[in-house]
Amino acid sequence: MQGGCFCGKIRYEIADGEYLVVNCHCSICRKTSAAPFVSWITVPQEAFSYLTGTPELLQSSAKGSRHFCSDCGTPLTFITTERPTEIDITTGSLDNPEDAIPSIDIHEESRLNWLKLEPHTR
Ligand SMILES: [Zn+2]
Ligand SMILES: [Zn+2]
Repeated sequence: MQGGCFCGKIRYEIADGEYLVVNCHCSICRKTSAAPFVSWITVPQEAFSYLTGTPELLQSSAKGSRHFCSDCGTPLTFITTERPTEIDITTGSLDNPEDAIPSIDIHEESRLNWLKLEPHTR
């Protein structure tokens, strides 16, 4: 799987595999993406690599940091010290986002109350 930012400066690749995809409704994801929620695909660090470009780092909490394109602003990845061997990638930045189907919602306590999602079938 490949993806990248809106302007094309940053491109990345994810090795083939079966990965968890989650919808995160936390307020930090909402604010840093300016979207109602963010869908993430979680992969082992070694399964992810940048092909071109170097993203900018945002320390978004004590434990979490996010990379984004400094030219176009696209949010790309999330890393947390709670899961140091993994990296989360925004499925919206994938070339084929349909390939990453969410199976779980997290931080539902801060989900926007108008937002209705289909129940997941795992
Ligand atoms: Zn960009
Ligand atoms: Zn979140």
